[in-house]
Amino acid sequence: MKAVIYDGPKQVGVRDVEDARIERPTDVLVRITTTNICGSDLHMYEGRTNLEQGRIIGHENLGEVVEVGDGVERVRVGDRVCLPFNIGCGFCANCEKGRTGFCLTVDSDTPGGAYGFAGMGPYQGGQAEYLRVPFGDFNALVLPEDAVDKEDDYVMLADIFPTGWHATRLAGMVAGESVVVSGAGPVGLMAAYSAMIQGASQVMVIDRLPDRLKLAEQIGAIPIDDSAGDPVEQVLDLTDGQGAARGCECVGYQAHDPQGDEEPNATMNQLVNAVRATGKIGVVGIFLPQDPGASDELLAQGRIPFDFGTYWFKGQSMGTGQANVKNYNRELADLIHHDRAQPSWIVSHRLPLAQAPQAYQHFDDRDQGWTKVLLKPDL
Ligand code: NAD
Ligand code: ZN
Repeated sequence: MKAVIYDGPKQVGVRDVEDARIERPTDVLVRITTTNICGSDLHMYEGRTNLEQGRIIGHENLGEVVEVGDGVERVRVGDRVCLPFNIGCGFCANCEKGRTGFCLTVDSDTPGGAYGFAGMGPYQGGQAEYLRVPFGDFNALVLPEDAVDKEDDYVMLADIFPTGWHATRLAGMVAGESVVVSGAGPVGLMAAYSAMIQGASQVMVIDRLPDRLKLAEQIGAIPIDDSAGDPVEQVLDLTDGQGAARGCECVGYQAHDPQGDEEPNATMNQLVNAVRATGKIGVVGIFLPQDPGASDELLAQGRIPFDFGTYWFKGQSMGTGQANVKNYNRELADLIHHDRAQPSWIVSHRLPLAQAPQAYQHFDDRDQGWTKVLLKPDL
């Protein structure tokens, strides 16, 4: 099968590799029809992780079930499924509580497994023609009959829609509150969209890329251009000097300005200062060490200093971590099914697998208009 392979920093190739196959009785085999490129893939693409060369990348996957293992009872051949990026066993203490991003039994260096991801197990990614899905009965979201017509909406359930939603839930947002989101990448835009759907009174989105700020504005959020002035001041001006009730960190370690000298703590400081006293901050951005080629021990450290004193004096709190995608997906799929949400508004490109190398380059360079790329093996 054809697959997108990590060949080292800033290099991906599309090559023929051994077909994905059923390896355990609980596996499901999926023929991929849409697989997205994510900002999380850029951590690996830019060489900030220990992902080994030769791995297939891709954790935002949707397709059709073509084979099921002998132990699979619920999922059937022919089902259209979206695969949450987390791989969970379904029966550990965390999975039982819906914390499927932190499965305690999957084979992984950090709590929780994922497809095609450094430090999150040996599982291959889905930027390929086929994908092996472990614990298929638990991990595959079977889609309703409008799955084909709304494929580009449902594929957002693999990651960025539930992750954006998770940011608002970690921040504890309730209807009527104001929210500030750091980052207008796909995740930040989905956090803003989730806040709008849940009835936020005011949603402010900080970035500096005009095309992404424009998208934020199009969904009714207030774009805040941090290159036009201190973003904290801009948020305070919009909130009677008090700050937003809730904050969502959707950037993480980031070469916001690859040539510049910005510290990776910029967004944490932004939010601590732009969220009002006793407000809560949901951090979904991933913080990794800055050194490319970091050693295994360093992988999960991602140390950053931030204004902890301010955070403490303001009595703020924080929620962090991978989104427990499965925990939200039943409801988010229903919102799509009943036309209450259309997250595909974020899609900028639909391309064949073969164009993955160019797509990675454009998305990584933040080229104007390259917001969210969907790879379609059938194209
Ligand atoms: P992205 O890289 O496409 O977008 C990040 C955006 O942040 C860019 O538009 C960039 O211009 C902006 N930015 C950079 N520095 C900034 C700053 N100082 N202030 C404001 N904006 C700034 O990535 P994405 O796909 O949107 O993902 C965002 C983060 O979320 C990444 O760290 C990714 O790994 C993480 N993520 C986490 C989860 C999870 O489950 N927790 C899931 C998916 C992605
Ligand atoms: Zn992703």
